[in-house]
Amino acid sequence: MAEVLVYVDHVDGDVRKPTLELLTLARRLGDPVAVYLGAGVDAAAPVLAEHGASRVLAADAPEFADHLVVPHVDALQAAVKAVSPAAVLLTASAAATEIAGRLAVRLGSGIITGAVDVAAGEDGPVATQSVFAASFTTTSRVTKGVPVITVKPNATSPEAAPAAGTVEPLEVGFGPLATGTSVVSRSPRAATGRPELTEAAIVVSGGRGVGGAEHFALIEALADSLGAAVGASRAAVDAGWYPHTSQVGQTGKTVSPQLYIAAGISGAIQHRAGMQTSKTIVAINKDAEAPIFELVDYGVVGDLFDVVPALTEEITTRKG
Ligand code: FAD
Repeated sequence: MAEVLVYVDHVDGDVRKPTLELLTLARRLGDPVAVYLGAGVDAAAPVLAEHGASRVLAADAPEFADHLVVPHVDALQAAVKAVSPAAVLLTASAAATEIAGRLAVRLGSGIITGAVDVAAGEDGPVATQSVFAASFTTTSRVTKGVPVITVKPNATSPEAAPAAGTVEPLEVGFGPLATGTSVVSRSPRAATGRPELTEAAIVVSGGRGVGGAEHFALIEALADSLGAAVGASRAAVDAGWYPHTSQVGQTGKTVSPQLYIAAGISGAIQHRAGMQTSKTIVAINKDAEAPIFELVDYGVVGDLFDVVPALTEEITTRKG
């Protein structure tokens, strides 16, 4: 069976959930081979094996942590040469998308970015994308070279499928560009204890209807009852009620969770562009004519100051 390379996104050996989703998708296309760069492979390998990686190609060097992007491209290029894969899959994060683009140029391959699904086709992998503010769904495939495909988080649920996960060293020769951009400092973001917005399985977002920074505590309480991330509309962010890093939409983050709850958000096209591929959408809005109700699976016409606390209480009670 053809092998499929999966670029592992991790923090010091802690494999991020979107990589486990990629391994699940990769199994549709062939035999998954993980490419692990940096320290911590001993912690990561059992997790990668549990999710279907038959091999883990590992390389560690200071370049991976001290310089941006290009050392990872050098390593993936070496992995492609070693394996001759049927495809290379990466998560559609900003960094991995840049790695994917550079890799595709080096390989002379076609690239598909931001796929929401990947399936096996007669002539190679077929990727599904949601485009033009999610008003069209396209399917496409790479017709030249080794397909390089980035996939959005939450495209599928990770499924365990134990495999050998044999760790093998990957020989990487760094090119002259590898050290072109150096990391000069790092400061960890203040931890909220909530999942990362773009990766969360559930997102609860608040808009102008929330009415003030202090009321975002209601949104956070609902999010915490569900183990969700918190998002915000641009109106709420521009008003200074919530950080810009939480903005969902065309000029903010794109999310595609299993469940998206929008409270006090009207559903402007620019907001929809960032959340319309969510699997289940729930809106709470006191205006029955609000455009958000055109795309919801479940809509609650009501005042969020009544509905959100009641929902939080009900969820908390049911969780026992
Ligand atoms: P509003 O449109 O004001 O809607 C507030 C809603 O809250 C209303 O529907 C109201 O009925 C409801 N409401 C009020 N009080 C209550 C209550 N007590 N209970 C329940 N419901 C209540 N927007 C984004 O979100 N993300 C983007 O990335 C983005 N990018 C943009 C890029 C460009 C170039 C432009 C021009 C705009 C962009 N916008 C973006 C802005 C977008 O057009 C809207 O202005 C914005 O999304 C509106 O935010 P909102 O829905 O929170 O506010």
